[in-house]
Amino acid sequence: MTENEDNVSLSLLLCKECGGRCCQGSPGIWTDPERFFALFFSGKGMTLKQLRKRLPALGLVLWENSGVPIPAPISLSSGCTFLGVDGCRFSVTERPCQCLALIPDQATLERQEGCRCRLPASFSRETGKQRWQDYWQAVDPTAFSTFYQAGDQIDFALPPEGL
Ligand code: SF4
Ligand code: SF4
Repeated sequence: MTENEDNVSLSLLLCKECGGRCCQGSPGIWTDPERFFALFFSGKGMTLKQLRKRLPALGLVLWENSGVPIPAPISLSSGCTFLGVDGCRFSVTERPCQCLALIPDQATLERQEGCRCRLPASFSRETGKQRWQDYWQAVDPTAFSTFYQAGDQIDFALPPEGL
């Protein structure tokens, strides 16, 4: 069983009624690099440079302004580009770790806007950042330290903690 299968929390009725307010805010990220490469590249790991070239074909981007590149769906002012009329266009197993881990809460529906659903700490932005940092450093220490020193020159914002 994968980490995400362990933690998955889908409350479909509540989410159906909600209509995906989390997705209309900002996409979730894949916090687990191994899971990400297993899903989209048959488990084949890559350097940052290699992944950068492959992401556009998947409709994904790197969120980079934390200083650690993390793959995520493209975010528009209307929210995640993978949100279709019938919900998420990813299969359940492919969805970003944060999307699967978000625990739906009725409190979201009791408000006019915003998301009150809870993201476990093990799927937080900080946890994802640490895991990707460890991954990039292990794969290509020189390239990553050069990137890290270059800092936050990229203009994507990380999703808010509540997605
Ligand atoms: S905001 Fe919460 S209730 Fe609404 S779709 Fe997302 S997880 Fe489900
Ligand atoms: S990937 Fe799917 S579940 Fe995640 S934010 Fe986008 S539409 Fe929502």
